[in-house]
Amino acid sequence: MKPLNPTFAGTGTTIFSVMSALANQHGAVNLGQGFPDTDGPLALRERAAQALIEGPNQYPPMMGVESLRQALARHAERFYDLNYDWRSEIVVTSGGTEALTASIMGLVKPGDEVVLIEPAYDSYRPVVEAVGGIAKPIRLSAPGWELTEQALAAVFSEKTKAIMLNSPMNPAGKVFTEAELVLVAKFLIKFDALAICDEVYEHLTFDGLKHKPLATFPGMRDRCVRVGSAGKMFSLTGWKVGWVEGPAALIGAVAKAHQFITFTTPNALQIAVAHGIETAEDFFLNLAKELEGNRNYLARELKDIGFNPLPAQGTYFLTTDISGLRFNGSDVEFCKHMTEQARVAAIPLSVFFTGEAPQTLVRFAFCKQRHVLEEAVKRLRTHFAK
Ligand code: PMP
Ligand code: GLN
Repeated sequence: MKPLNPTFAGTGTTIFSVMSALANQHGAVNLGQGFPDTDGPLALRERAAQALIEGPNQYPPMMGVESLRQALARHAERFYDLNYDWRSEIVVTSGGTEALTASIMGLVKPGDEVVLIEPAYDSYRPVVEAVGGIAKPIRLSAPGWELTEQALAAVFSEKTKAIMLNSPMNPAGKVFTEAELVLVAKFLIKFDALAICDEVYEHLTFDGLKHKPLATFPGMRDRCVRVGSAGKMFSLTGWKVGWVEGPAALIGAVAKAHQFITFTTPNALQIAVAHGIETAEDFFLNLAKELEGNRNYLARELKDIGFNPLPAQGTYFLTTDISGLRFNGSDVEFCKHMTEQARVAAIPLSVFFTGEAPQTLVRFAFCKQRHVLEEAVKRLRTHFAK
């Protein structure tokens, strides 16, 4: 057989599926893959059910159902004072994952360099490479994951087409500071580059921190596309409704890719998400408070067990340093061991880096009911007390 596309044929299964399968196999509490264990608002699910029965059930518009695009335009204005024309500056996709893929496919051409900030979400690099782009990683360091001018200067050049900017950032749980965003903006202007802003956790920030899209900084609106996800907004990760917002020139190109990836996304789910954005904002505002409580609980307990929890300012995730536990092996081996022996699953951070990666960082998802976190803590206490 002739060689298949090495970007995909040569890649393993995503760590999220691998760890979830291992968790199931061993009856482990799954704090690996990030998904809430309670479904989002009933009103949205009822709206979706009604739309499935009553229709429409044929192809929605390629750019997305009108009511959803209009709701998204109002949402961006209400929260960030960003004005997007719902007709030409918003495209609905099948989840944030497709939104990212369509953005990369639509904006990056072969030979373009794309800056990735590591630890980087695992879908970025393969898609950049599949379109012939060249990934230029910047490596951030725990515990603060600061993005410096030197780090940006080392990777930006005339060949830079775009940066992938994920804030709040998975897996690090970092919210980029105003000063860091100003620096990114400076480099984008200097090298005439774009930003693909992965903002799927936009509403899940803690300690009074507010998410500020890079697109709101001077000169940035026309250089940024903003990726969002209803899965994260409404705890409905299986719905796979996402979107991209940005200037018409960029969204036009993203939509050209979208039309050949999925073309569109189920009507009923789009209609329900539109309803949610218009009527159920309190859901994600309360969710952030609940998650903050979970983070505090899990950080306190894990510290007591011997993990060293790093700051987590947003997302579903708490990263911990495991050096204090004196495990003899890599982070991947540690997570495997913990899933099999303590029956609690987590995600090793090394998979989010290129090349030699730190081996002592492990991510726990805290988007779970409190009694589930308590059960995980109980199991970890028993295991690590041995
Ligand atoms: N970006 C990041 C940083 C994520 O964590 C995720 C999913 N957890 C996505 C994108 C994909 O979002 P979706 O599930 O809507 O495809
Ligand atoms: N983004 C989720 C996480 O970080 C997983 C999504 C997936 O499984 N593709 O855990």
